Amino acid sequence: MTWLTNRCVILAGLTLLWIPAMAQVTITYTGNMGVLLESSEHAVLIDGLHEFYKPAYLPPSEKLVADLLQEGGNYPVPDLSLVTHYHGDHYSSQLHLGLRKTTVVGSRQVTDPLKQKSYAHTITIPYDDYRINEYQFEGMQLQAFRMDHGNEYLHKNVQNIGYLISIGGKSILHVGDTDWYEHVFDALQLPLETIDLAILPYWLLWDDQGPQWVDQYIKPKRLLLTHIDPNISPADLKELRHKLPGVEIFTVLGQAIVVE
Ligand SMILES: [Zn+2]
Repeated sequence: MTWLTNRCVILAGLTLLWIPAMAQVTITYTGNMGVLLESSEHAVLIDGLHEFYKPAYLPPSEKLVADLLQEGGNYPVPDLSLVTHYHGDHYSSQLHLGLRKTTVVGSRQVTDPLKQKSYAHTITIPYDDYRINEYQFEGMQLQAFRMDHGNEYLHKNVQNIGYLISIGGKSILHVGDTDWYEHVFDALQLPLETIDLAILPYWLLWDDQGPQWVDQYIKPKRLLLTHIDPNISPADLKELRHKLPGVEIFTVLGQAIVVE
């Protein structure tokens, strides 16, 4: 990997050339909807630190958790940990308390338990309406917005946040456990953004109309499906891949793709 950033190369007092930043991000699977985004300058975790919840949801391994919490492992300690919502297959406040300098972002259902334990670095996203909240973080642009959780009957009090983050020159969307709510997508107008990769739960593409709705409501260049039962049979996985050609599917810890 080339570790070049936007900078002038200065040799013997002379400015020789301008080296553009590598517009490249590696996305590594950390279980269920968890991903680690790595550019040459930053590491951002989304829904990446949680514990075992139910057999249908793959948690990160102990080794992976240790790597994310401590310097010197296979992965960098993230600068940011974005959390879509507090359900146990997306978030553990206990594991987040093992971080030191990482800024943890989420609704108050996510950040309140950390603040109560005096965790120093949090950003709380408001949840009153569907406006887009914008933040700058060490050169990265972050947009965070309400995206109602799927199954209103069971989960209407769950605050689910979507994130659009610009990292390594790429724009990456993660929607958490939402569903095709017209009022949400109409408010967000996501096709007006250039989205290089959309990370979605599989059920958004379960329906035959899924691909059409992705195009109408998100319009990403690439798609990555997550939240798949790790016990899915090889035959079912093959059928899913056949049904959705060109769509990336994460089912194995450590699986990775590069967006460039
Ligand atoms: Zn959930």
